[in-house]
Amino acid sequence: MPSKDLYAVLELPHGAPATEVKKAYKRLARKVHPDLNPGDKNAEDRFKEISEAYAILTNPEKKKQYDAYGTAGPEPPTDPRVHFTGFDFDAGPVAGGFSDLFETILDHAHQGRSRGPAPGQDLVYPLTITIQEAFHGKKARIAVTHTVSCERCGGEGRLSPSRKRPCAKCGGTGKVGLSRGPFSFASVCKECGGTGKDPGEPCPACSGTGSREVRETVDVTIPPGVDTGSRIRLKGKGQAGLMGGPSGDLYIETHVRQDSQFAREGPHVRVHVPITYVEAVLGAKIEVPTLTGHALLKIPPGTQSGQVFRLKERGMPSLRHGPAGDLLVEVHLQTPRVVDERSKDLLREFGRLNPENPRGYTDPTEG
Ligand SMILES: [Zn+2]
Ligand SMILES: [Zn+2]
Repeated sequence: MPSKDLYAVLELPHGAPATEVKKAYKRLARKVHPDLNPGDKNAEDRFKEISEAYAILTNPEKKKQYDAYGTAGPEPPTDPRVHFTGFDFDAGPVAGGFSDLFETILDHAHQGRSRGPAPGQDLVYPLTITIQEAFHGKKARIAVTHTVSCERCGGEGRLSPSRKRPCAKCGGTGKVGLSRGPFSFASVCKECGGTGKDPGEPCPACSGTGSREVRETVDVTIPPGVDTGSRIRLKGKGQAGLMGGPSGDLYIETHVRQDSQFAREGPHVRVHVPITYVEAVLGAKIEVPTLTGHALLKIPPGTQSGQVFRLKERGMPSLRHGPAGDLLVEVHLQTPRVVDERSKDLLREFGRLNPENPRGYTDPTEG
């Protein structure tokens, strides 16, 4: 359940119209879109937050519910119209029990609103890929389970309704009376959804739900340069719309697996490469791994352990056709394992020729 006010997230006053929601979202998304802020976790979180607020507040059903109850979740909210103060719950037996009573009242709170077409829910499909796949891009075939509108009834859930005939259940009033022990109230007619018109027969193909579940194989092209949290939209592959509304979309959300060699830093890629003492001292041309095979890197004489060399545009490609990131080669000095006496003598000789104290202080015990 979102804890922040969704309107505040979009910097809008509570209850702002959908047109304002769309404007605010576009304006904010241009600022915080992850592609424009590579490697910025805050921007990524903020983008998710505004996207979530946008998704809820542009869905007419959800917006209505959120405006009224401050929640858009699937759980029934506490209906402010339902007040039990003043009733004595121990007063007498209640047929069907309290849970049944609550359900009926909450039903009442939920239904009786528009039963018109509504867009289907979006789906998110997480897809784990390697850093190499993120670099090169990838064609993936995935199996998704989603609902599609029932062909038989066109998503209405009912067959051959007559708009002229009144609903048989409520006699055309759209309401049915209920009495439960000491309570009695009118509830929206479930049969016709409160319209009072003949709803027709439940569609046998979808059991009246208006949709059916399908498992579908979908081909998706992951473009080079995606990062964890990147989303590829497949239009209309989400859940079926209600009452003939448009289907939601399917979002393939990529998760880039951690690599033992390459570490991603936004558009840049860091790789750790060991170098020998001699290479560090004298300088050398060394082979370094990149995401497209090996490259030659020239390190200067006197290279220090931990020094970083930048290979321009050998990092991640840009999703927006901009310049690629860089490859950051961090070299680490590997101390030689000298065992033979001749090498040790040479090193002692080297030490005598190069008396250095890199620590900058002298050991007091050495006087
Ligand atoms: Zn059907
Ligand atoms: Zn009815």
